[in-house]
This record gives sequence, C-alpha cells and structure tokens, in this order.
Amino acid sequence: MGRGPAVEISLAAIKHNYELVRVLTGNRRVVATVKADAYGHGAVEAALMLEKLGVYCLGVAYGSEAVELRRCGINKTPILVYFDNIDAADIVKYDLTPIVYGAGTADSLSDAALRQNHRIDIHVDIDTGMGRVGFLYDREIDAIKAISRLRGVRVTGFMSHFSEADLKDRSFAALQSERFLRVREELSGIFKDAIWHMANSAAVMTYPASHLDAVRPGLILYGSDSLQPGCPRSETAAFRPAMAVKARLLHIRRVPAGRSISYGRTFVTERESVVGVVGTGYADGYPRSLSNKAHVLINGQYAPVIGRICMDVTMVDLTDCHGAKENGEAVLIGRQGDKEITASELAEWAGTISYEILISLGRVNSRVSCIS
Ligand SMILES: *Cc1c(COP(=O)(O)O)cnc(C)c1O
Repeated sequence: MGRGPAVEISLAAIKHNYELVRVLTGNRRVVATVKADAYGHGAVEAALMLEKLGVYCLGVAYGSEAVELRRCGINKTPILVYFDNIDAADIVKYDLTPIVYGAGTADSLSDAALRQNHRIDIHVDIDTGMGRVGFLYDREIDAIKAISRLRGVRVTGFMSHFSEADLKDRSFAALQSERFLRVREELSGIFKDAIWHMANSAAVMTYPASHLDAVRPGLILYGSDSLQPGCPRSETAAFRPAMAVKARLLHIRRVPAGRSISYGRTFVTERESVVGVVGTGYADGYPRSLSNKAHVLINGQYAPVIGRICMDVTMVDLTDCHGAKENGEAVLIGRQGDKEITASELAEWAGTISYEILISLGRVNSRVSCIS
C-alpha cells in the first residue's frame, strides 16, 4: 500500500481517447505523446496498449524514457525523442528516432552512423514561433537543406510545435501553421518521403487545417484538455478522463466556532463544525496552493478544503456533508455519485494547468491500471 492517495488509471479511457483522436483527424497517423510517464498515467502500460492498437509512433522527451519502453517490450513501434541529445550507438541499439534541432547534431549523428555502417532516421524540428528549439523557419532553411546531403541520416519527418493553440484568438496559431506550410513547400521537393506534423492536443481539437500527415497529441489521450474559455469545442470531442485519485478520510472531529485550522491559522471556524482529516498532502503531489480553494468529494458531496494543506494531510469542512465515515473515500480527482472533480478544475483552483496536476499526482503515488 502506498503512503498517500491511490491513483486509478483506466486504460479503456485512453483507448477511447486514442480512437476519438483518429476519428477527429480523419484517421491521421498519431504520434502518441507518452513523455513524463504518460503524464503520470504510466508510460509502459499506455504504450503497450497503444502499440496493440497499432499506433503509428510514440513520443517521449528523453532518451531514457524511450529506452525504458524498449526494455519493457515495446519493440515494434517507432519512438520519437523530442528533446534529448542521444548517443548514436543508443539510437541504433534501441531503434530510436531523434528529433534534431541543430545543424551540429545532424552532422555528428551522421558521422557516427556512418562509422557504424548505418543510416539513422531523424525528424527535424522547425521553430515557427514556439521559441524553444528548432531551426528558425525564416533563417535556417539552408542548414536544413544541407542535412539532405548527409549520408548517415535520413529525414523521415518534420515537426513544429504550437505556442498557443488553446486560445480563443487563433491568429498566432494560424501564423505558425502558415509558416510551417511555407517551409514544407520549399523543402518537400528535397525530402520527398518525410511526413509533416505539428498538431498537439489543442490543435487536434480545434484546428483541422493543422492535422497534416500526422498529429502529436498528449493531454487529450488522458482525457483532459487545456482549451481556454471561448475556444471552439467540437461536440463530438468527448474525451474521457483516465485518472482518478482517491484518498482516505482518516479522522472526523467536531470543533466549536472560533477555532483556527492548520498552519498559519488561515481558516477559522465560523460555526460549530465537523472537520475531516484527509490522508493526502503536498508530499503526495496535492499542491499546497489548493489551500482554502479546492474541494474533494465525500459520500457524493463537495467538501471544501479548509486551512493550509500540510505535507501529509488536508483538512476539509464536513459540516454540510452527510454520511461521511472515518476510513471512507475522499475523491481528489474523479467521479463519486453524480459529481465529478476534473484535473482542469483542480488546476484552476491551484493556479496551474491540468498537465502539472496529473503529472504530480500520478507520478508520486501508487498506481493501479485497470482495463475498464
Ligand atoms: C508535450 C508535447 C506534445 C503534446 O502536447 P499536448 O499539449 O499534451 O498535446 C507534442 N509535441 C511536443 C514536441 C511536445 O513537447
């Protein structure tokens, strides 16, 4: 038994979400992003299932994540590595596809590959406005053309990444997309077999013109989304949350009015109150910034978090909550009865994004994957 809350992962939900991505994109190839342990959902379990479903490719951030997938039996599906500078020997040994974003990397990979009598497949990143990595769309096209002359590497794909495809105002996303298409026009005669991809989750949902040859979603595979209010949202885009997080109600106590709760006395009871002590804290990835902001579900009702969240426990107000029992379940994310708390709601209360919530709760707690 883990120390904090239990995390339940529904592989059926991930399957449903993957299939929905295929439908929404007219059966485009999917590069399923499983970096950071599949956003806290368990990369090996998710990748094994996606491989069975015939996913085109998997995407991770670092070489070590890719090697772990290979060691755990994901052997048929190509793995794109978004950021790492991986040793050429490991690329060959584990059959990885690095994304290259610098001319120097392309040269040295090519040299190393030739020394091993090999040709390494790479995808090339083009910076159309993300401002992170990638060949600059307007300044470094000649450097990309030079890659076509390297005999040790073969460019099988080009990618770019959106900076704000989740906004209602899509002018910058449109600009990035235009820039990428212009580069494609200039290069496709040279790199005839390469596929072009740029759509992250937000673009899969809202921007069909960006779906191109393949899409590269992460977040929506896990049933969350990052769309800002007002962003056009397709009715058919019913993604199912794959993660539920449940803690135990350790203790219930009755306290008079006028008592302060937890560190720093940020909450004082205004009435005689029933206070529940929930077995989760910031050590379990339940952000301290949720203090006095979040709710949990207890016996199908919302119970507000009161006072500061501690390292190991969190207090909730149960005064208006019926039927709470010690050792009962407190849902931090997920459904209970007809109510639901989503990762996006928790993120909003904490002043962050659902990505961070899923990753922090999913990665530190013990996880159970189920088929249903
Ligand atoms: C994380 C990441 C994605 C997936 O983004 P989502 O918003 O989760 O869909 C796609 N491509 C790259 C390069 C990424 O870093």
